[in-house]
Amino acid sequence: MIYWRWWIPLFGFIMLFGFSIIYFIEWKRPRLQQLQHMHTIKQWLAGCLNIFATIVSGWFFASYLFFISGYFTGLFAVLTHNIWLQRLYSFLFLDAIMYAWHRINHIFPALWKYHELHHKEKELNVFSTFHFHPKEIIISTTWRAVLLPLMGIEPAALLAYNALFFAVILFHHSNFNIGYKWDKFLQLFIVSPGLHHLHHSVIIRQSNSNYGSLFSFWDKIFGSHTKYNQQKIEYGVK
Ligand SMILES: [Zn+2]
Repeated sequence: MIYWRWWIPLFGFIMLFGFSIIYFIEWKRPRLQQLQHMHTIKQWLAGCLNIFATIVSGWFFASYLFFISGYFTGLFAVLTHNIWLQRLYSFLFLDAIMYAWHRINHIFPALWKYHELHHKEKELNVFSTFHFHPKEIIISTTWRAVLLPLMGIEPAALLAYNALFFAVILFHHSNFNIGYKWDKFLQLFIVSPGLHHLHHSVIIRQSNSNYGSLFSFWDKIFGSHTKYNQQKIEYGVK
């Protein structure tokens, strides 16, 4: 068994350095030139606090899964004894539930009233990654605390997924101009900035699509994919 606590420094590293590197690149190579790169003290404080809270809560959640695994064997361990298959299932499952949860947030008004805050931003940059209503985070943490042990998600699988998940969502919220060709290539595998920026469009048809977080194929499988063709995007909610 991989000693799961080793994943915590990696997760912290990705959060801190991933944020810093993307912040620097979107400053030097912005997607929207007119976007003011200077951020307010409030944004910096909220960003730093959120990075810290994400690392600490990831560690707590992984410790919680480790504690529960001593008493309870989850579904994936029943399905297969192959540990690598269990990890593969866990990884795909974690991303699938993020897709489903995001889509549900757009369907039910009771949830949209919180998720809407994330969509109200008039411009996207790396700070937008953390701009969520606290109630949306509390609700999602609550159901995850029940569902993840039931499935038997290992702490290491959760931390590895979170590390990759945050690397991608920091990247796809950023105002980093990677160019159309690179965006088109990346969207074959992951949710690229082009795909996710469309999700923040004021046009409902576009914002009600591209719900994926890490892998881009969920939207294609479940019919919610909108192609990014360098169309001009007006951000926000109407
Ligand atoms: Zn959304």
